[in-house]
Amino acid sequence: MIGAVDIGGTKIAVGMINCEGKVLARRECLTDADRGYPDALRRIIEMLRATAQTANMQISGIGIGSTGPVYPLTGEIGDVNFFPHWKGENPVRDLSQSFQVRVAMENDADAAALGEASWGAGHSKSKLIYVTVGTGIGTEIILDGQVYRGVDQSHPEIGHHVIDPSGPPCLCGFRGCWESLAAGPAMVAWVERNAPPSYPHVADLTAKKICELAEQGDSWAMRAGEHESRYLGLGLANLVTMFVPDVIVLGGSVMKSASLFLEKIRKMIGTSCRFVPYEKTELALASLGEDSNPDWSRQSLVLPLLPRGRNQCNLTAP
Ligand SMILES: [Zn+2]
Repeated sequence: MIGAVDIGGTKIAVGMINCEGKVLARRECLTDADRGYPDALRRIIEMLRATAQTANMQISGIGIGSTGPVYPLTGEIGDVNFFPHWKGENPVRDLSQSFQVRVAMENDADAAALGEASWGAGHSKSKLIYVTVGTGIGTEIILDGQVYRGVDQSHPEIGHHVIDPSGPPCLCGFRGCWESLAAGPAMVAWVERNAPPSYPHVADLTAKKICELAEQGDSWAMRAGEHESRYLGLGLANLVTMFVPDVIVLGGSVMKSASLFLEKIRKMIGTSCRFVPYEKTELALASLGEDSNPDWSRQSLVLPLLPRGRNQCNLTAP
């Protein structure tokens, strides 16, 4: 029985999970970061005890997913926007002392990717890339059940690889990185730049609204969706060419409208990744929903890529 703790900017959620990944009991409270770390720790401990009691089980380990940056190897919280006064606090050490069990912490995106690899859309796949498209683009690489880390255990920022060097500037230092062109705000910026002043929805536009309008047949929103599909497809095709993973799991608020983009993405991969067996890489939608992150879809759908067409290089063809 694992105690799971999700520390977010708005709320802290706690659950009791059995070895099949099933949530047996859950509780949550507001983060209320200004009340200080000791107060939050006290509430986390209370919720862990209460949920263990509800599930009528002993906790054998605790896993924490927290909004980052956090340091998984030392257990420390970094300089997090939502709770800057918690920097240097160590929930891994503190919960381990309280419960006398092993405690591990990852940033919430890596924790969600590990969840999808163990119990979700990436189950039984050894090479998984998790891509979340929302306000930004987050990516995680899981190899044989382990999070891939760079030098000094750093987190690679694949969401900031360059798609178009003449594109918009980004805080990462590049112009035209994937996030600057394909995250939700890029869709909004495209409509604001291109739609005429008379376009009725321009005042309160969000990526979610654009996706809803596109599904209703609004022509500017549909054009924004095509633009989005092209940049999502370019980035995903790059991932297929560079890594040829077993599966790419797609999550995040923009991917709740995945049906708007998938056909074009698949075509892009089919025409751009000919030097690798791209048809063996599956695209799948994240399946754990609110149990891994409140922003993600509950839908589960595996989408095999199109088989190689006759137009492609095939030396054995008659
Ligand atoms: Zn960037």
